[in-house]
Amino acid sequence: MGHIIGIDLGTTFSCVAYLEGQRPLVIPNLEGARTTPSVVSFTTSGERLVGNLALRQAITNQEHTIFAVKRLIGRKFDSPEIGQACKKVGFGLGAADNGDVQILVDGQIISPQEVSGIILDYLRRCAEQFFGENVTEAVVTVPAHFNDLQRQATKDAAQIAGLEVLRVINEPTAASLAYGLEVKKNATVAVFDMGGGTFDITLLEIQDGVFHVLSTNGDTYLGGEDFDHRIVEWLVEEFWKENRVDLTQDRLALQRIKEAAERTKRELSFTLESEINLPFICASKSSSLHIKKLLTRAKLEELTDDLVHKTLPCIERALDDARLSLNQIHDIILVGGQTRMPLIKKTIADFFGKPSIEDINPDEIVAMGAAIQSGILGGKMDDLILLLDVTAFSLGIETENDSFETIIDRNTTIPTKVTKPFTTVEHNQRQVRIHVLQGESRAAHENKSLATFYLTGIEPAPAGVPQVDVTFEIDADGLVRVHAQDKTSGSEQRVEVRPSSGLTRSELQNIIEQHKSKEPNGTSDGKKGLL
Ligand code: AMP
Repeated sequence: MGHIIGIDLGTTFSCVAYLEGQRPLVIPNLEGARTTPSVVSFTTSGERLVGNLALRQAITNQEHTIFAVKRLIGRKFDSPEIGQACKKVGFGLGAADNGDVQILVDGQIISPQEVSGIILDYLRRCAEQFFGENVTEAVVTVPAHFNDLQRQATKDAAQIAGLEVLRVINEPTAASLAYGLEVKKNATVAVFDMGGGTFDITLLEIQDGVFHVLSTNGDTYLGGEDFDHRIVEWLVEEFWKENRVDLTQDRLALQRIKEAAERTKRELSFTLESEINLPFICASKSSSLHIKKLLTRAKLEELTDDLVHKTLPCIERALDDARLSLNQIHDIILVGGQTRMPLIKKTIADFFGKPSIEDINPDEIVAMGAAIQSGILGGKMDDLILLLDVTAFSLGIETENDSFETIIDRNTTIPTKVTKPFTTVEHNQRQVRIHVLQGESRAAHENKSLATFYLTGIEPAPAGVPQVDVTFEIDADGLVRVHAQDKTSGSEQRVEVRPSSGLTRSELQNIIEQHKSKEPNGTSDGKKGLL
């Protein structure tokens, strides 16, 4: 059997690992680095660059350089998150026919799945170079709070990269696998995961090799980039005060500021002040203008304190769902680059009343956990580990008067299958609409629409008499299947939740064909009424 790789496809950095015996090890990229920037660039000569090569030319080629595509994947163009993204990114965004967000590069339309696919393809080839053989199978991690559409889109990206995804696992769960394997002790663990674009909190119990996720919560739109943006806003405002020049209109200047902001933020995790020096940032009527500002750690903390505190209600909800009190948490693991920020460490330590575990590498632990999962699937760790994960969102359907009827509660252990009976609202109703939703609101329209389908052929009967059984199934990847059946006529319909979003099978196939010929970086190879 060939090697199965574990991939942490991060917002800002990605990492790939494998299992050597029963030890997870990181695979270096083609430049020898242990992590790869999740950046893709399209050059004027038609070349595709990935990772550091793409990053290095980002300032001069902004409109063709795609950052943080993970924040776009599986989202609708008209969602509030994409509204925010439009203001921040240097490239164009638009809507596909089905409303999905798309990236516009030089008049060409590229889906976020394709861009993620290019990154995954690069990581696959790094692994192939490392092993000297083809690699076709992977375990890929996603934020615990990724919904069904985002998970499905990530799987499509892997398919574009020529990888069969054997399992999608949640990033914090992967981190806990790696941690649990290392320390070999029974404990109730909180995994606080903040990377470039997302935040998750996961509570789990490790007992005699069984990893039981108890609850998960988070925010798919809170991460390191938001901290960078606060520094950018501060610099732009200070520059306006000093020069009366609005840098928000200058894309080149903004990209330089953004990069400097991120560097400064990192530095301030280890120093108390950092100088931001950007000569010739723009020209006024009479002279060139420069940025030279000192940012202190204290000022950075003032600018971002609310972002850090936004995580605490999520932790409280996760504790409530798991029916745990603070003193029942034994270990706190911090995952994701942003958790290096001292304010985050301090806020979390104050909240839990104890410091987090120090000796783990937050950039690599998720990929290592994915590698362990690949070992479990490959039969290398069977006797050692059993992983029981949960679904992050409640799932259900729309019923009369915009109500949301939950079928599977959030934080239910997966895989799972639940059936509930429903009925008709009109006499002789021959069909019902099944609108599948994911979310926590009682109002259907406030939840995320996953798919709509119709069950036809219902036997004519007075309203309320027919029994339509709706079955929801979530597999181990967190993906959803729905099935509806009229008990009297036997008529049935099933959907793998896909139709209302994502790439169609033929679109996906076309992209896979196109990508086969392109190699980046110049390398080769109770009854409720239904509507
Ligand atoms: P990840 O997605 O886990 O690779 O995390 C990337 C995020 O972590 C980016 O927003 C980085 O700017 C941030 N990050 C990396 N190193 C540091 C650091 N030393 N201090 C603060 N943030 C950091």
